[in-house]
Parts: sequence; C-alpha cells; structure tokens
Amino acid sequence: MKKKKAIVVGAGINGVVAAIELRKREHEVVLVDPGPLPHPLAASTDISKAVRAAYGADEDYTALAEQSREIWRRWNVEFGVELYHEIGFLFMRQRQMQPGDFEYESFKLLEQRGHQIERISSKQLLERYPAWNAERYPDGFLDLEAGYAESGRVVAALIQRAKSLGVELRENTKFRERRRGENRESWVRTRNVAGFSRARGDEGGGKQNAPIFVRLISGAGGCANRIHAHLLVLRYP
Ligand SMILES: Cc1cc2nc3c(=O)[nH]c(=O)nc-3n(C[C@H](O)[C@H](O)[C@H](O)COP(=O)(O)OP(=O)(O)OC[C@H]3O[C@@H](n4cnc5c(N)ncnc54)[C@H](O)[C@@H]3O)c2cc1C
Repeated sequence: MKKKKAIVVGAGINGVVAAIELRKREHEVVLVDPGPLPHPLAASTDISKAVRAAYGADEDYTALAEQSREIWRRWNVEFGVELYHEIGFLFMRQRQMQPGDFEYESFKLLEQRGHQIERISSKQLLERYPAWNAERYPDGFLDLEAGYAESGRVVAALIQRAKSLGVELRENTKFRERRRGENRESWVRTRNVAGFSRARGDEGGGKQNAPIFVRLISGAGGCANRIHAHLLVLRYP
C-alpha cells in the first residue's frame, strides 16, 4: 500500500497505540492533542484500569482481550518495568450465577477457552478474602489471568515510544473540524492552545492523496490496544 500521511486526533491509549501501529507500517504520522500529555483529563490517564477478558458471552471481544493480555505481558518486558499487574479479578454475585448473567456467561466462555479461572463459593470467599462480607456473595469466580494496568504511566511510556519511532507529536493543538473541498481535502484545522496559531493540513492533488484520518477522542475499554491495532490492520495493512 502507498504510504500516506496519517493524522491521529487524541493521544489517549487508543490514539497513541493507533499512531504507533500506523508508524510501524511506515506511514508518516502526526498525533494531535491539546495536552499536556498524558492529558490529566483523558479517560486513559487515571492511576489504574482493570484489564480482563470477561465480557459475558461476547466471544469476539473476549478474543481481542486475550490478544491484548499478551501485549500487556510483552510491554512489561519491553518497558523494563511492570505496569500491568496480573493479580487476578474477582467477580461475585449476591445469588447463584445463572445463564444470562454477565458473570455466568463470562465464566462459561472463559472456561471453554481454557482460561485459568476458579469458581468461588461463600466458604472459599471467607477463607481467601476474609475482608469480604462472604455470606452476601454465594457464588462467583476468580479470573487468575486478569489484573490492572497503571494506565497513566502506560500512556506516558507509549508516548515516549511513539516519539522514538518518529511520530510527530503536535501537543498544544486541538482538532476543530474536518472539511472537504472539491479537488482537495482540508482535513484538519487546529486551534492553538499555546504556540502556533493554526495548523492546517491541506493535501492537494485529489482524493488519492487524502491522508488517513483517525479520530480517537474516546473509545473502547482498556484492552483497546489490540482492538485498534486490529482495526488498523484491516484498513491499512
Ligand atoms: C472512570 C473510568 C474508569 C474506567 N475503568 C476502566 C477499566 O477499569 N478498564 C478498562 O478497560 N476501561 C476502563 N475505562 C474505559 C477506558 O479508560 C477508556 O475506554 C479509554 O481510556 C479510552 O481511551 P481513549 O484513548 O479512547 O480516550 P481518552 O483517554 O479520553 O483520550 C482522548 C484524548 O483526546 C484528546 N482530545 C480531546 N479533544 C480533542 C480535540 N478536540 N483535539 C485533539 N485531541 C483531543 C484528549 O486530550 C485525550 O488525550 C474507564 C473509564 C473511566 C472514565
């Protein structure tokens, strides 16, 4: 595929990962965000986010979450610091799990796909997690391959990686609108928050030169590292 210019709007987890994936495919990538980065108001840049493959009966999402988990494990090695902590995730119900329940459907699907999970009764809950009010939770399960990511630190590490791969970071910049003309596409107009007054991407020469445009101001869950890589592979191999 002909290499293109890619504009990625929003440098949360989805935007940064999308920028990295596009860059790896050798596109010229600009990542736009008002900043400061990681943005303190972005959904991604909290202290921690749960990472799990339990998504009820949704097999597609579960499969993506499995791939994500591998990436989280790999990032721990590549970053040289453990930012994903695989400490398990406990799901409990105030009655027996039944078909149609999120927990029941998750349990069945994870079991079928060979995950390390354990069904947990009140008795086991009391023994293993004495702080819980065990008699109120008769049934549930423990997903041993889930955990949490230090999400803000992860985004910070990925921003550094994006920069080192050659992604052009346009901080202090806010996407405003996308406009299409007849023979050209004015694809991004940005308002300066501090610095340059306006940056405008004008790509002359017709639609074939139009840049890849990815707007990622908010998106899917924390396993999204894999989801966006997946979507981009489909469109921009
Ligand atoms: C309270 C809370 C708890 C959550 N817990 C979990 C959890 O435990 N596990 C899980 O998997 N998911 C969780 N999520 C969901 C997850 O955090 C989000 O789905 C994910 O972080 C979204 O990432 P994003 O990159 O799409 O958006 P964001 O992280 O919000 O990033 C959007 C970026 O776009 C930028 N931006 C905004 N407007 C513009 C503009 N006009 N121009 C340029 N840039 C712009 C922002 O500055 C920001 O940096 C939680 C979400 C919240 C809010």
